[in-house]
Amino acid sequence: MVPRKRINEIVKDYDPEDITIATLCSHTSLQLFNGAKKEGFKTLGLAVNQKTRFYDAFPLSKPDEFMRFDSYDDFVDRASELTDRNVIIIPHGSFVEYMGTKRFEAMEVPTFGNRSVLRWEEDRDIQRSWLESAGIQMPKRIADAKDIKEPVLVKYNGAKGGRGFFIAKDYMEFKMGIDLSQESYTIQEYVLGTRYYLHYFYSPIRKSGYRVGEGALELLSMDRRDESNIDELYKLGSTEELKKHGMFPSLVVTGNIPIVIRESLLSQVLEMGENVIQKSYELFGGLIGPFCLETIVTDKLEFKVFEISCRIVAGTNPYISGSPYSDMIQPGMSTGQRIAKEIKDARDMNMLDYVLS
Ligand code: AMP
Repeated sequence: MVPRKRINEIVKDYDPEDITIATLCSHTSLQLFNGAKKEGFKTLGLAVNQKTRFYDAFPLSKPDEFMRFDSYDDFVDRASELTDRNVIIIPHGSFVEYMGTKRFEAMEVPTFGNRSVLRWEEDRDIQRSWLESAGIQMPKRIADAKDIKEPVLVKYNGAKGGRGFFIAKDYMEFKMGIDLSQESYTIQEYVLGTRYYLHYFYSPIRKSGYRVGEGALELLSMDRRDESNIDELYKLGSTEELKKHGMFPSLVVTGNIPIVIRESLLSQVLEMGENVIQKSYELFGGLIGPFCLETIVTDKLEFKVFEISCRIVAGTNPYISGSPYSDMIQPGMSTGQRIAKEIKDARDMNMLDYVLS
């Protein structure tokens, strides 16, 4: 991991009036460039294999310039070209996934947020120990497949975006579904309820609003994922019947749907975010910037959190012009703009080292 001290040295040499915000041309890049432009930053699109012509269709989100790379190794090797331009990188889900943790940690370019969070996020066991020690309720884990008595979700480690999961209702179904050639897996209680993906932002430098620690926590928006084919499967009859035709439910994310939650649940939403942040400071120096708790609310109105994402999530994309929640903080503000604003505020307060690593 590139030491924070090294990043601080690099940032010290930056011209604060000439910072460029860069990200990989994928995932939430339209939102991030749009937000950076609104805050008056120069923008740079990083393209490894990504196509970039589609930005022509969205002029207010088209970066000022593109930089192209042959591979992700090439990207790491050419870090100095980025620091010469006073670049701050905003990581997003695809960026970290495509680069891989090792390269991402080694990259000698200032990035928004605390890179130490990755170790706590990528391993499901370590992630669980963080969240449970913060008092968060998670779906029960089933250690032995023979103990499956109720519906469970079997998750292969490393599975992303709902690909590589399957549902089993008993040991028999588990045996029929399990692919032993796959790497390790975990078995989790299938929580029946409605899904809310809660998009938070933690600022370590803001001194007003919903105070947590030295800074403040914001709730910017929430979404629900559209998942294929499970969200539409019911149209074809019972899942048991469909299995006979070789059709099984899958949970592959294809899009995002805006949503709001019952107002009476908002206190709990904020308290969960607060506890996660406080624990993150105890464990690894703090989670900074956007993060998402992926939750299921049961009919007892209890939250079960099945995952945390520690950077901007694609579920914020419906809110490029603001959300019902962010409009009560600053009208029209997206998570992308909130990140750019945090960088701007930190720069103006001479506190960039609080938000970069
Ligand atoms: P993930 O890759 O962990 O974000 O999960 C992908 C999808 O699986 C989610 O969007 C949910 O639809 C579903 N899911 C994950 N964990 C559970 C669970 N314990 N119970 C019910 N559904 C779940």
